[in-house]
Amino acid sequence: MKSNERVALVTGSTSGIGKAIALQLSDDGFNVVFHSKKSVDEGQRLASSIPRATYIQADLSDQEQAKGLVSQALSLYGRMDVLVNNAGINAMIPHGSLKQASPAVWRELYEVNVIAPWTLIAEAEQALRASSCSDYTSSIINISSHAGVRPKGASIPYAASKASLNHMTQLLALTLSPEIRVNAIAPGLVNTPMAESWVEAQKLWTERSPMKRGAEPLEIAHTASMLVSSSYLTGEIILSDGGLNLT
Ligand code: NAD
Repeated sequence: MKSNERVALVTGSTSGIGKAIALQLSDDGFNVVFHSKKSVDEGQRLASSIPRATYIQADLSDQEQAKGLVSQALSLYGRMDVLVNNAGINAMIPHGSLKQASPAVWRELYEVNVIAPWTLIAEAEQALRASSCSDYTSSIINISSHAGVRPKGASIPYAASKASLNHMTQLLALTLSPEIRVNAIAPGLVNTPMAESWVEAQKLWTERSPMKRGAEPLEIAHTASMLVSSSYLTGEIILSDGGLNLT
């Protein structure tokens, strides 16, 4: 099989970590589907800047649009080999402000960070199974967070949503094997638009983490590329936090 026949859908890929992963997978020879909630111009610019790429807009808090994203990608390319669930949202709420973390906040975060990845995986399962072969097993990568592994993070609902995504990753690794490998990357601080205002986290990573800095998006993309090219890793949650969890 030519590598340029294989297709990767990367959600939330017009900025930050998702953009770096999509560009890396294109370098690795994949046809790439860029996606975002809003940045249509940037998505189209990115898609036209590399070969065999396309862009699809969809609000993943809307189940119909989430299903439509997979069906549009499949109708354009006729196959899917890699699904990266990167799109995510955050809420900055002090852990002690319990009432501020209202049911509406929990629902909004779970809709995008947990339920949308589930729906995309369910919609893509058949195509991922169909394209899997011993040389190239299909794979799913969920971008969770260090906050889903350690009891910290910008808010308790955010951290709990990422812990849920991690557990889903392991349960699906068991359920979808051997045709589909399912792994997660749990980044610590990554220098993206989402993290620009995280002053305390920047101080923490600079002062306490063994690597003395946050990650660049490309460093997370290299881990994603490694997981995609593996033929054996499944059910892994790769903490990519510069070693902060050790301290
Ligand atoms: P970002 O803000 O640059 O990207 C987020 C992407 O999610 C955007 O492309 C946006 O379009 C998409 N998105 C948000 N809501 C959406 C919705 N309703 N429908 C469709 N798409 C939606 O942020 P980033 O830092 O690159 O984050 C990417 C992922 O990495 C997220 O899941 C985030 O939780 C996770 N993460 C980031 C960091 C960090 O330090 N930046 C740390 C740990 C985990």
